Amino acid sequence: MRALTKLTAGPGLELVDRPRPRCGPADVVLRVLRAGLCGTDLHLQEWDDWAAATVSPPMVIGHEFYGEVVELGVDVTGIEIGDRASGEGHIVCGRCRNCRAGRRHLCIRTRGIGVNRDGAFADYVALPASNVWVQPRDLDPDLGAVFDPLGNATHTALQWPMVGEDVVITGAGPIGVMAAAIARHAGARYVVVSDASDYRLALAERAGADLTVNVTRESLADAQRHLGMQEGFDIALEMSGAAPAVTDLIDNMNHGGRIALLGLPHQGYQLDWGKVITHMLTLKGIYGREMYDTWYAMSQMIATSAPLRDAVTQVITHRFPAEQWEEAFATARSGQCGKVILDWS
Ligand code: NAD
Ligand code: ZN
Repeated sequence: MRALTKLTAGPGLELVDRPRPRCGPADVVLRVLRAGLCGTDLHLQEWDDWAAATVSPPMVIGHEFYGEVVELGVDVTGIEIGDRASGEGHIVCGRCRNCRAGRRHLCIRTRGIGVNRDGAFADYVALPASNVWVQPRDLDPDLGAVFDPLGNATHTALQWPMVGEDVVITGAGPIGVMAAAIARHAGARYVVVSDASDYRLALAERAGADLTVNVTRESLADAQRHLGMQEGFDIALEMSGAAPAVTDLIDNMNHGGRIALLGLPHQGYQLDWGKVITHMLTLKGIYGREMYDTWYAMSQMIATSAPLRDAVTQVITHRFPAEQWEEAFATARSGQCGKVILDWS
């Protein structure tokens, strides 16, 4: 089969011929139809310090995917050959305290498809049946491929009830834009989105943001003034990983404000802890998706809301056949894009 592979420890990737993955007794093999590119894949291509410390080549990369079930392990029940499905890329141990309590997103031994084991930038991918999320027949395959990042957005945005709240989202990457759509859907009063890119802020506007802030020209304090806000934001979703974004958030939250942090910083940074303490802010880190409550919530929201479905679909701005993966990676790296999809069908 074709597989986009990290062959040796160093920069680069190669589209090579690899054996089709074996299907273990509790596994499912999907024929990949679509796969989404994520920042992680760019880091793996570049081979930065994180990649070097995490990955043992040879390994097929890719962890956002949608496909057709073509093989079932002998122990698998409840999934049929021909089903269409997305995949949860975090594989949990099933034995640690959190796993056994049903809090699988808090597993202490999480392993990632396309990071710690062979991934989905290939014609076929094998995964545990428990990680398969069967989708409705009529789901747009492109949308099926973005359930992983949509799950990040959903997991973060649904941390706290949003009805009537003033919400700010820092970072209008694909996940920040999807989070804006979910905040709108979930009943926020104002949804403000910041980024340094006008291209990306336009996507956020189309997803339902009331106001966008280009941080190269304006601050969140300006946004509050524009909207006539008096007291600060109630809820923040940090989706940039940029230290200045977090600093600006802390200066613009209402007392008792809640900040969910999904964006991953490249290094440690200073915070005004005095303000965090005296303004009684809550900071909560978010990783992955709740297995499988986030999957349930996003599936039902997508199934029942045409505006949300449209808002999420417009985040997909570029589609490339798998052979043109180099162009796809270059586009993703340019930042002049939303979500970039590889077509493996
Ligand atoms: P992305 O890199 O495409 O988007 C980040 C955006 O932040 C960019 O558009 C960038 O211009 C913007 N930005 C940079 N500095 C900013 C600033 N000062 N203020 C506002 N915006 C700023 O990433 P994505 O795929 O949308 O993911 C969002 C973040 O979430 C990334 O940091 C990613 O690493 C992280 N992530 C975390 C998890 C998790 O489970 N915690 C999962 C996936 C992604
Ligand atoms: Zn575990």
